[in-house]
Amino acid sequence: MSDEKPHAAGNVDAGDTSERVGMAVLRERGLEPEELREKLIDAIGAEFTTYYYYTNLRMHLAGHEDYKEITEDARLEDRAHFELVAPRVYELGGALPNDIREFADRASCPDAEVPTPMDDRGGFDTTSLDAESILEVLLEAERCAIRTWSEVCDMTHGKDPRTYDMASRILQEEIEHEAWFVELLSMERDGEINPAGHFVRGEPGDAPLSTNRRFNDSA
Ligand code: ZN
Ligand code: FE
Repeated sequence: MSDEKPHAAGNVDAGDTSERVGMAVLRERGLEPEELREKLIDAIGAEFTTYYYYTNLRMHLAGHEDYKEITEDARLEDRAHFELVAPRVYELGGALPNDIREFADRASCPDAEVPTPMDDRGGFDTTSLDAESILEVLLEAERCAIRTWSEVCDMTHGKDPRTYDMASRILQEEIEHEAWFVELLSMERDGEINPAGHFVRGEPGDAPLSTNRRFNDSA
């Protein structure tokens, strides 16, 4: 009877909760689940810190309400990227660091800080702050995200369809984010038109590709 059900049993003993078939099948396909999950923690560390830093960058775009709204789209989508992948870390036998400082430190992208020194009262020196320099920070953060999720796609392609699906959907949004900031920065800095095709998503953060929809619908 069991020959007729080839997947009824495998390398993990029946009832054993110390092992996961969802990890074993990756190993069988040549992907180390532990290595992948650590990479995912680094990657969503960057999504989470970017969500935080974009809050601050958006706050400093006074007078550029259109830029603010687009930054808000990117910010909420990055939060959704964090939310989308966090459960995957646990499925792969891992956990988010208990210490948020450790989590932020291991983020796979640099901190997207407001690009201006602090003044002598500990606030930002906003006299030297312009939209151009903020857009540059936003653009480079998106580029780091594209590199990160492309790497995750490479690692998982043909081996881990679940993570690949997440990473490829995130990658699509990151590529859109780059296009938005290329458009805005080239106009702001160089007076050059580089259309991105961005239209208001609906409510800020309503991504077309469902990473957000999944998050927002359940919220
Ligand atoms: Zn993102
Ligand atoms: Fe992004």
